[in-house]
Amino acid sequence: MSHATLLPTPNRAPMTNEVLRVEGLRKVYNEGKPTAKTAIEDVSFSVERGEFVCIVGPSGAGKTTMLRCISGLAQPSSGRLSFEGTPLTSVPAQLGLVFQDYGHSLYPWFTNAKNVGLPLAARGMKKAERAHRVSEVLKNVGLGHVEKQYPWELSGGMQQRVAIARALSYQPDLLLMDEPFASVDAQTRFDLEDLILTVRRELGITVVLVTHDIDEAIYLSDRIVVLSGSPSRVREVVDVPLGRQREQVATRASAEFLDLRRHLLDLVMPHSV
Ligand code: ADP
Repeated sequence: MSHATLLPTPNRAPMTNEVLRVEGLRKVYNEGKPTAKTAIEDVSFSVERGEFVCIVGPSGAGKTTMLRCISGLAQPSSGRLSFEGTPLTSVPAQLGLVFQDYGHSLYPWFTNAKNVGLPLAARGMKKAERAHRVSEVLKNVGLGHVEKQYPWELSGGMQQRVAIARALSYQPDLLLMDEPFASVDAQTRFDLEDLILTVRRELGITVVLVTHDIDEAIYLSDRIVVLSGSPSRVREVVDVPLGRQREQVATRASAEFLDLRRHLLDLVMPHSV
């Protein structure tokens, strides 16, 4: 379970348009020791309320490190991070986290409903209200029928839906996802991508998703932050003007999509195209 779920829900921050700001982020592991390793050199970007932003970069570019800093789980070596206008010093209560490894993020001895309700229980929500919210959010992810089952009775894609439902249960202002669809088959991946676009549209949440998959980033995003290789810098922030309605076959075959794909490939593999 993410640490974010352990914090009490504070009064909502005043509605600023900017949900996340990352300024001059630098992260060095084992700083000052012979084993020092610079994972992030200099990264800056911001995310507006309601936006879907993907972060792409090659393996080892520091994407996971950056998400750990953004989610308050790791301290940056330098730079400034703010969440809804407030300096980020610990895990923001209004942050939802979804990781790639759904298998390890759900408790096998709890029913799916209990897994989804855990952050609500940690926030002191009464049982009846909790049951209602859990039902609602499981329906939002197309799993209204599995409340009484256990995670191990579900397919990988369904387990990831339960993990998404849990992250959505406390209505986060920002959903942060680390390669969330990397461990499922291609068809399930498309289904989950469409699910997250629908959830985003219907619930109006802001999403930051890390992926190494350029096509996935274009399909999902309003903007893409393209990172260089290790230690990472921002190569470019690319606008994705494909509109809100996307469809797996038609969108991916459109001229705009293919142009963006070529541009992004040029950025991440400058010598290959
Ligand atoms: P990505 O998610 O883009 O694959 P990571 O953030 O996992 O990249 O890693 C970036 C770099 O930082 C890698 O070179 C990795 O070996 C290094 N790194 C990650 N975590 C640690 C750690 N806890 N201690 C030392 N080095 C680390």
